[in-house]
Amino acid sequence: MRRYSAFAIAREAARYHTGWERAWPSVEPKKHYDVIIVGAGGHGLATAYYLAKNHGVTNVAVIEKGWLGGGNTGRNTTIIRSNYLQDESTAIYEKARSLYEDLSQDLNYNIMFSPRGVMMLAQTEHELRGYRRTAHANRAQGIETRMIDPAEVKRLVPIINLDGPRYPVLGALWQERGGTARHDAVAWGYARAAAALGVDIIQQTEVTGIDRKGGKVTGVQTTRGGISCNKLAIVVAGHSGLLAEMAGFRLPIESVALQAMVSEPIKPAINVVVMANTVHGYLSQSDKGELVIGGGADGFNNYTQRGSFHHIEETVRALIETFPIISRLKQLRQWGGIVDMTGDRSPIIGKTPLEGCFINCGWGTGGFKSIPGSGWAMAETVAKGEPGKLAAPFGLDRFTQGRFIDESVAAGVAH
Ligand SMILES: Cc1cc2nc3c(=O)[nH]c(=O)nc-3n(C[C@H](O)[C@H](O)[C@H](O)COP(=O)(O)OP(=O)(O)OC[C@H]3O[C@@H](n4cnc5c(N)ncnc54)[C@H](O)[C@@H]3O)c2cc1C
Repeated sequence: MRRYSAFAIAREAARYHTGWERAWPSVEPKKHYDVIIVGAGGHGLATAYYLAKNHGVTNVAVIEKGWLGGGNTGRNTTIIRSNYLQDESTAIYEKARSLYEDLSQDLNYNIMFSPRGVMMLAQTEHELRGYRRTAHANRAQGIETRMIDPAEVKRLVPIINLDGPRYPVLGALWQERGGTARHDAVAWGYARAAAALGVDIIQQTEVTGIDRKGGKVTGVQTTRGGISCNKLAIVVAGHSGLLAEMAGFRLPIESVALQAMVSEPIKPAINVVVMANTVHGYLSQSDKGELVIGGGADGFNNYTQRGSFHHIEETVRALIETFPIISRLKQLRQWGGIVDMTGDRSPIIGKTPLEGCFINCGWGTGGFKSIPGSGWAMAETVAKGEPGKLAAPFGLDRFTQGRFIDESVAAGVAH
């Protein structure tokens, strides 16, 4: 596969852009793979890439029922940060954030990483104390975050209303190297780089069954026939419960719709990411000028990719309180994705009761930021058959051993 470069752009310009190759080939599935990954979201594709790059495992297929990145990876609000509370969490989220720093160079694909800073507003005394605790924990973990006062909040975000009618801004937890990236580009970049190393990416093919023999996985049934494999990785976010059922085990996961929306494009108005968790809304501005607005998760299990109507009203109300100047903006689009929530709001990465079958799920409302770290850790787990240091705390067995990694504050509303 040819590298993208300034030279390539000049070469193609000279020949009227007739020489660009497809970013990744469309292939017919083989009869057998060493590893099959179900789900071509960011986590599945990153797993494939690091399996090939870090472990030399290239006889790999990524099987996707729709189009690549069409699940939550292409539906999120793209916030990247690593300011979680527990050591296990910050280790994997910071690994991911640091990989994002030079992911464009690594993948030879511009993922538009924008470390513009992420601000989490404290709007009650309780929240202020909570974030102070997180800032101390982050310092001990080597994560660069700090508390800022209302005056600095206003300096960084001139359009903010510090004296909201319900909750004044008392301060904020600030992570300067947090930010955003273009979500589709992350999926496309990993797909292209994985395909270049020999991975087969198979779209429009649904996995409908999982073949087992003697307690071990032997392959999958798909809408294009059966394919055998030595190892299987289930990486399907909100559909994890359905795939686990096919594999004969149950997961402590609830699937709910989480929604987001964008406004009409406006001139640059805000150049950081702001999350207001008490009033429940968060905001950033895209390169096109749209305000990207995150809403709430439904309070009941469902598989609709829309989200409940009342959340739109709640989210808009919260943001108008915080940013009154946006009150006359028109909303352009609203959508939802099916997120996979665990009880402790931490992911599951590791082995399953079915031998040779591995799972990566439970990233809930916040798994875009973790894609590089998760793929890195999952690839190691699949290649070696055992989780490495990053993945080990997140095994399925923590729910039977009572070893929870409680991130309900860090991940409850926030993403
Ligand atoms: C509205 C919204 C906002 C969010 N905001 C943020 C944010 O700001 N920051 C952040 O870090 N995270 C955010 N998230 C969460 C984040 O998007 C997800 O955690 C992450 O994208 C999950 O990626 P994934 O690769 O695991 O899953 P997905 O991208 O959903 O990929 C799973 C894939 O599996 C496929 N699949 C399912 N069943 C089958 C089958 N039977 N056969 C074959 N393929 C199958 C699906 O089609 C899908 O493409 C948000 C999510 C939503 C919905």
